[in-house]
Amino acid sequence: MAMFKRMTDKLGHRGPSRTPMQASPSSSFSSNTMSMLSHEHRGSISTERTSVSNYSKKVEVPETEPEETTVAELPPTLRPLRPKGVYRLSDFIIQRTLGTGSFGRVHLVRSKHNLRFYAIKVMNKEKIVKMKQVSHTRNEQMMLQVVQHPFIINLWGTFQDTANLYMVMDFVPGGELFTLLRRSNRFPDPVAKFYAAEVALALNYLHSLDIIYRDLKPENILLNFDGHIKIADFGFAKYCSTTVWTLCGTPDYLAPEIIGNARYNKSVDWYALGVLTFEMLSGLPPFHEPDITPVRLYEKIATGPACIVWPNFHPNAKDLILKFMERDPSKRYGNLRHGADDVFAHPWFREVDWNKLRNREIQAPYQPRITSDGDASAFERYPEIDANVQYGSVTQDPYGDQFPDFDYTSS
Ligand code: AMP
Repeated sequence: MAMFKRMTDKLGHRGPSRTPMQASPSSSFSSNTMSMLSHEHRGSISTERTSVSNYSKKVEVPETEPEETTVAELPPTLRPLRPKGVYRLSDFIIQRTLGTGSFGRVHLVRSKHNLRFYAIKVMNKEKIVKMKQVSHTRNEQMMLQVVQHPFIINLWGTFQDTANLYMVMDFVPGGELFTLLRRSNRFPDPVAKFYAAEVALALNYLHSLDIIYRDLKPENILLNFDGHIKIADFGFAKYCSTTVWTLCGTPDYLAPEIIGNARYNKSVDWYALGVLTFEMLSGLPPFHEPDITPVRLYEKIATGPACIVWPNFHPNAKDLILKFMERDPSKRYGNLRHGADDVFAHPWFREVDWNKLRNREIQAPYQPRITSDGDASAFERYPEIDANVQYGSVTQDPYGDQFPDFDYTSS
């Protein structure tokens, strides 16, 4: 288990083990390593900048930057698209847990009014404040409120009570790409290409709104009933028209400039798509080593693709991964003069009809087996809590004013 715990940390999350995958040796990695990988998610991190890396020169930047953008500061293109729905806890019957996060969990719920199923993310305010994640939580809500895209999760509304914040989303029933990947060991080239192409469209959309996502990984890509992706977890998404500085993300997916204490821009998401593509094609992320220490991982990321052991990828796939994982952001694909158009025109994507893909007219390579509305069997089981006791009771509320965009609605 420790082998793939990698770098859990202040925000390390998702302890419960995952279903062991069917192990069959993958190209360049042992099946033993692969099965260890199936047991645990990788935690996202968000730490004080200066504590992370001392092997690259620190650039002159302020110690902190305001991570938070208020709604009033957002450009007109980023004003909420939809009127906010008004919801309260008593509108829903809380059912099983779909996943756990750093400050709470995501539940399958059923509306008492229209009988439809939704997912509600419940986050404990005290935990958020203690882990210094108030700005990230507010950003998550703000960014999800302004985005609307076929490959991005849909937020219906938010509310709070004295103890918790609640985010009401569409239920995405096909489970995590992480689970599918671990069960498959690795994806054939066309399958990886399909998911990478849908992610590229979603990233391009976010970047066109000056939103940086910052936590791309298979755990955060959900599969809808029809097998198309829905990117979830906007905990690190942020309005970013120039550069930002906060260290956050998931260690294997961090671009070298993030760990090198430099300011960085949206191109870190393209770097992460390179890592994701590698992981989909090989089953493991590019710098993976059993029991690797944080320092060793960060050294390898800083050294760059030269230290990667390359499985036998299609040459076009390898070429695009290298262009995404370019160490110098000014030379990185997606961040050049033609932006995402360079990505869309790359030979690995030659056969992709981008318009059809955007309209979900290309059949997904894997159709989740969904037997009925509210079928959550694609998700792991987690130890359950008594939601009736834990949610909705009136407690002291010292932190409510820190989340002004979450309305109070009586339960
Ligand atoms: P998060 O804290 O947002 O990363 O969510 C934790 C986990 O809950 C995710 O990795 C998913 O497995 C699950 N999850 C989150 N949102 C949804 C959703 N809208 N539908 C289904 N499952 C979800």
